[in-house]
Amino acid sequence: MNKSHDEVWNNCLEIIRDIIPSASFKTWFEPIVPLRLEKNVLTIQVPSPFFYEYLEEQYIDILRKTLRREIGNDAKLEYNIIMENSAFTNGKPYTVRYPSRNKADLQNKPMQVPFEATQPAIRNPFIIPGIKKVHFDPRLNPDYSFANFVEGECNRLARSAGIAVGNNPGGTAFNPLMIYGDSGLGKTHLVQAIGILVKEKYPDKTVLYVNANKFQTQFVESIRNNNKNDFLHFYQMIDVLIIDDVHEFAGKEKTQDTFFHIFNHLHQSGKQLILTCDKPPVELQGMEQRLLSRFKWGLLADLQKPDFETRLAILRKKAYNDGIELPDEIFEFLAENISSNIRELESGLISLYAQSTLNRKEVTLELARQMVDRLVNTQRREITIDYIQKVVCEYYKIPVDQMQGKTRKREIVQARQVSMYFSKNLTKASLASIGSSIGGKDHATVLHACKTVNNLIDTDRHFRNQILEIEKKLKV
Ligand code: ADP
Ligand code: MG
Repeated sequence: MNKSHDEVWNNCLEIIRDIIPSASFKTWFEPIVPLRLEKNVLTIQVPSPFFYEYLEEQYIDILRKTLRREIGNDAKLEYNIIMENSAFTNGKPYTVRYPSRNKADLQNKPMQVPFEATQPAIRNPFIIPGIKKVHFDPRLNPDYSFANFVEGECNRLARSAGIAVGNNPGGTAFNPLMIYGDSGLGKTHLVQAIGILVKEKYPDKTVLYVNANKFQTQFVESIRNNNKNDFLHFYQMIDVLIIDDVHEFAGKEKTQDTFFHIFNHLHQSGKQLILTCDKPPVELQGMEQRLLSRFKWGLLADLQKPDFETRLAILRKKAYNDGIELPDEIFEFLAENISSNIRELESGLISLYAQSTLNRKEVTLELARQMVDRLVNTQRREITIDYIQKVVCEYYKIPVDQMQGKTRKREIVQARQVSMYFSKNLTKASLASIGSSIGGKDHATVLHACKTVNNLIDTDRHFRNQILEIEKKLKV
C-alpha cells in the first residue's frame, strides 16, 4: 500500500471538497501543494504563516480525519510554510517546516454543580433550584502532550505510569499518581500530558489542572465570599483532578484540611488524582501526616535529570516544534553544555536562535559558545545556608560560631532568626536541616523564627530595612 503524496492528498481533497463550501475550498485548499510522504508524515506547502494558522484553527479536524483514513491512525501532518522575507536570504522568500499542532478539543462539557444560594434566588422555572451549570476550562496546554514528551531513562517509570493513568483514569492502582522531582525536569509537562490524553480518550470526563497556589487562593476567596461549600462541591465533581506543586500547601493547615476532604471524596468515588511535588513526600515539612500518608497510597514516581541522549532528543523535538533548523553540532554542543535542567536547555536554544535572528547572524558554534558562557555566568550563584549565615553575621558584626551556639543574647537571637528566615526563603533546605545547621534547633523553632521575622517586617520599619539590605547583599 505505497501511495504517493499526490495520491494521498488528492484522495483527501475529494472528501474535503464534498464537506466544505466551495468558496472556502478554493481559498484554503486549492493553493496547497503536497510535497512528500515519508512513512506516516505528509508534508504540504502553504503560502503563508497565516494560512497555516487558519488551517490549524478551522480545518484541523477534517484534515486529521481524512489523513487517518488515507495513511492510518498514526498519520501526521507537517507544513512547509513560505515566509515572506528573511535577514539571511536578503529579502527572498524561504520556507520553514512546522508540524501540525493537531489540537484535540480539550474543553470540558458544562458541569452541573449543586450550589448554595448565596445570590438572590433565580426566578426561572426552567432552572432547577440549587443546581448551577458551570463551564470551566480544564487549563490544559496542548503543547504539553505526550507526543512532545521525550522518553528517557530519567522519566521512564513516571511516563509509563502517566500513560496508564491517562488511558484508564481512576481505574488503575496508581491513585493518586504522585510525580516528584526538581524544578525544570518536566513535572508540569507530564501531568498536563496525562490530562490531554484523558480528554482525547474520554471527551466527557471533566479534567482540571490547577496549581496548588491557585487552589489555595480560590479556597481563601471562597471563605471570604462565604461559599466554601460551593468550592467543595465544585472540586468534588471533577473526574480527573491534577494539582501541581503540592509542596506549596506546606504550613497552610486550612487548605490542607479542605484538600484532604476533596481527596477522600474523589478517591472514594473512583476519580483520579494526579499530584506533583518538588521533593519526595517523606521530605515534605509542614504537611499534615494524614495527607502525607494519602500521597503514598498510589504510585510515587520521580523525574531525574536527563542524560545526554535524552537532552539531545528534547532539543531536536523543541526545535522541530518551533520551526527552528540548526546544524547537528549546535544541538550537540547545547546538549553537552547545558545539563542542569530542561527548562534551561530549552531557553538556551531559544535565546541562541533569537540572537542570531536579531543580529542577522548564522548560528555558529562560536555564537553558541558565547551564549552558553553568558548563561553560565549569569546563573545566580547558588545561595547556601553557610553563605547566608556568613552574610548575616557580617551584617550584624557577630562571629558565626556564636550564632550557631546557644547564647540567648538578644542581638544574637535575632541574627539567628534572620538566618533561618533567609534559609527558608532562599534555599531548598528542609526546615529540619536549617534548624540543625544553626545549633541543633528543630523544625518548629525554624517555623517560629520565620513567623517572628515576618511579623517584625510588617510592624517595624527599621527592621524591614535591615532585611532588605541583607537580602540585597545575599543576591549580588
Ligand atoms: P517542572 O514542572 O518540573 O518545573 P516543566 O514541566 O515546566 O518542569 O518543564 C520545563 C520545560 O522542559 C518545559 O518546557 C517542558 O516542555 C520541557 N520538558 C521537560 N521534560 C521534557 C521531556 N521529557 N520532553 C520534552 N520536553 C520536556
Ligand atoms: Mg512545574
